[in-house]
Formats: sequence, structure tokens, C-alpha cells
Amino acid sequence: SRPKYKYARVLLKISGEALQGKQGFGVDPAVLNLVAEEIAQAHNAGLQLAVVVGGGNYFRGATAPKGMDRAQADYVGMLATVMNALLLQGALENMGVETRVQTAIEMREVAEPYIRRRAIRHLDEGRVIIFGAGTGNPFFTTDTAAALRAAEMNADVFMKATKVDGVYDCDPMKHQHARKYEKLSYRQVSMDNLQVMDETAITLCKENNIPVLVFNVMERGNVLRAAAGHNVGTVVDS
Ligand code: UDP
Repeated sequence: SRPKYKYARVLLKISGEALQGKQGFGVDPAVLNLVAEEIAQAHNAGLQLAVVVGGGNYFRGATAPKGMDRAQADYVGMLATVMNALLLQGALENMGVETRVQTAIEMREVAEPYIRRRAIRHLDEGRVIIFGAGTGNPFFTTDTAAALRAAEMNADVFMKATKVDGVYDCDPMKHQHARKYEKLSYRQVSMDNLQVMDETAITLCKENNIPVLVFNVMERGNVLRAAAGHNVGTVVDS
């Protein structure tokens, strides 16, 4: 009983960096609100939305203090994603959207533990589900967590919401002549080492035939337009 969109069940990945806006740290309330509005709009239009949030705006395992154990640092990074998950939940609930947060590391006082079948049930019941704590394992990224959840949820698409409007052949912030790709294959992304997401994430999407859409989340209406099948950024598929 999925609504009539090209992509009816969407896995939306929002990086911590996107939530940070122009600030150097934490969450920009205006950006948080804008992202929540995008989700609310798509949700109200009948889309099923599962959201995975990053945590880079608070902490990244890779840039942990020198000498800190990597796995230990990664757990801090995963906890950071839970803060974003709860902030997004708050913003969405202020807009009247029913949500559930599920975390890959149990913290029953603040969120449900991740239970796949229960998460799917939430989607079917019309709740936005927000996944926190990544995969629950160190040495992974939230992009990989998002690809994993997309496969587990049987999502029709992996939408990677970023601060730029697609994938470029070089950094558009630094090069005036940077060219944006309309379409890419999974293989091209890997071969040309294009910075879409890490190899583990892209491999998971490829093996499960989940198209990846990279687009600017700051542009209003993009989530819904993308779900309707418009190319609002760069599409990566086979
Ligand atoms: N992380 C992890 N395992 C996961 C997901 C995330 O260890 O499955 C940690 C990792 O240290 C990472 C941090 O959480 O640096 C924050 O996630 P990420 O860097 O992917 O966030 P984003 O770049 O999307 O803001």
C-alpha cells in the first residue's frame, strides 16, 4: 500500500555537516527547521520516510584527539548522531509529524532500540522513523548505516541530502568551471574515486540496486520533487 510516487519509500541521509549550516559546530536552528519542513512536506504528501542522521557536526572518529583509540572515538561519533536524531525528532514533532527514533546502540530511556520489523511497521503506520547511532559498529560511517537501513527497509531510493546540488568532477567551491554530473553509474563513482560516499556504502547500494540521489537539501521542495522522479541533483545507479 505505498503511495504513487516513483520513489514511495525513501531513505534520507542527512549529514551532521548539513545541519551545522554556517556555524562551526552543532546545529543551526534555521537549518534544522528547514530540513524538518522538507521532511514534513514529503510526509504529508504520503511518502514513507526513514531518516539517517550523521554526527560530524559534533564529533568524528577520524579526527579524534591524537592517541585516542579509534573504536572508542567512533563510539563518541555514534553518540553524536543520537543528539542530531533527537533534535530532528523534536523539530518534526513541533510540526505535528509523528516520529520514532531507533538507535543501533540501546538507550531505552530516550529511544527505541533498532528492530527492523518494528521500523517497517512505523513506516506503514505513517510515522517518520529516524535512525541514530549509525550501524552501532566502529569503523563504519553513517553513509554506510544509511545504505544498510535502506536495504533493510526495502527503500526505493537513497537520498543523500547535502549542502551542494550534486556530484561534480571537481570541487565547485574551488573551481569555477566545475561540471555537475546528471547521472553516474556505481562503477564510475568507484573507478573515478568521486566523493559521493565511501566504498562500503556505495557497494551496498549497488548490490541491492538502490539508486542514490545526491542533492541540495537547502532548496525547498527537493525531497518531494526527487520522489516524484525529477532529477534535482545527481542520480547514481547501474
Ligand atoms: N560512526 C561509527 N559507526 C557508524 C556510524 C558512525 O563509528 O556506523 C561514527 C564515526 O566515528 C563517524 C561519526 O560516527 O565519524 C559520525 O558519523 P559521520 O562522520 O558519518 O557523520 P556525517 O559525516 O554524516 O556528519
